[in-house]
Amino acid sequence: KLYNQVQDLKGSIRVYCRIRPFLPGQVSSSTVGCIDDGNITIITPSKSGKEGRKSFSFNKVFGPSSTQDEVFLDTQPLIRSVLDGYNVCIFAYGQTGSGKTFTMSGPKNITEQTQGVNYRALGDLFTLADKRKGTFVYDIAVQMIEIYNEQVRDLLSNDEIRNNSQNGINVPDASLVRVASTIDVIELMNIGHKNRAVGATALNDRSSRSHSCLTVHVQGKDLTSGNIIRGCMHLVDLAGSERVDKSEVIGERLKEAQHINKSLSALGDVIASLAQKNAHVPYRNSKLTQLLQDSLGGQAKTLMFVHISPESDAVGETISTLKFAERVS
Ligand code: ADP
Ligand code: MG
Repeated sequence: KLYNQVQDLKGSIRVYCRIRPFLPGQVSSSTVGCIDDGNITIITPSKSGKEGRKSFSFNKVFGPSSTQDEVFLDTQPLIRSVLDGYNVCIFAYGQTGSGKTFTMSGPKNITEQTQGVNYRALGDLFTLADKRKGTFVYDIAVQMIEIYNEQVRDLLSNDEIRNNSQNGINVPDASLVRVASTIDVIELMNIGHKNRAVGATALNDRSSRSHSCLTVHVQGKDLTSGNIIRGCMHLVDLAGSERVDKSEVIGERLKEAQHINKSLSALGDVIASLAQKNAHVPYRNSKLTQLLQDSLGGQAKTLMFVHISPESDAVGETISTLKFAERVS
């Protein structure tokens, strides 16, 4: 049985909104008014003291008490389609602290229950590949890269990846490591996370200002026909989407902010033009969209998780995140 349920869903771009719960000890009023299935209402304060309300619609809204398990269940069909030869991109978008890394990887002290999409996705692929072993033989390999200031770094070797004259960039040159079990994946992710921290200082938490991408390559051989199918999945934890006040940042920090701004808007432009079925899709405007070109559009499937923080201080960023999300859905 092939897992093509996702094809039956309208369009190949889906947007899920996830609201982070209040953190222990956090005292604030919430901006989230009401959530029902795919709709969310945000309460906006106004200068006159009168509250406003703004509603947004997405394919699904996960409230603050949604579990990693629930989120994964809705992502599973998409992930499984990789074994049937589809290309898939899953993005985590949102301001720093809104829960992107929680969704994709999990919290700091990770347990089986709190594992994010990355671990669960690989685990699910292994389980399913094993179930199909009478009819298919699968090879699964992963790459981990980071894009920081429009430079691509191999997180599994800690080398910078230089441009290749043919296509601008050559991700296939990043270390490609074969994996056979969830334990292999956990080990690799630990290496990747350590390498990612190398460029960081106490004042410079680089993880919020770079995009990290775990790519899973799947090759399956149909034992009956001898045919080979290839699928690939990119799991992307994006840089924080918060706008920085240009009057307040200088030097390195300003450069980072400009690069992030540029690449997130390039991503928004690409997905929006795919959603609108435009003839021209502007892939060339950022490293991120160049890298993912083959997995965005065409037969490929895209899922964007947009994350919002619940506290009323964050309402400005929350509205701008939801507007970004609405534009790409
Ligand atoms: P981001 O990657 O967007 O900067 P994080 O994923 O690091 O944000 O989340 C910020 C903090 O909130 C972390 O301590 C994280 O464990 C916690 N957190 C985020 N989302 C959830 C959630 N859904 N449930 C519980 N804690 C969460
Ligand atoms: Mg993060």
